[in-house]
Amino acid sequence: MSTIRQAIKDLLQEQPLSALELSQRLSISEKEVLGHLGHIAKAPGPGQRFHILPSVCNICGFTFKKRDRLATPSRCPICRRQSIRRPRFQITKE
Ligand SMILES: [Zn+2]
Repeated sequence: MSTIRQAIKDLLQEQPLSALELSQRLSISEKEVLGHLGHIAKAPGPGQRFHILPSVCNICGFTFKKRDRLATPSRCPICRRQSIRRPRFQITKE
């Protein structure tokens, strides 16, 4: 478990990735990735900062700025479409 979590941290220090992209790179489920991300978000490590790059509606461009949840929102509150770009995650040094 800790190895996977470390692998996620290493990937997110290189570039921002969505949970889906992480799941594909590590060959684990997206749900499992989200579980690890929950822990990483609370404790990214000494000198590290965890960022969430918000979801964006593909239709009208609405940005889900206030949302700090890890999962992808199901529907846009403005245009009510369901084409939402997944949030991406990143770890930077403080
Ligand atoms: Zn929209």
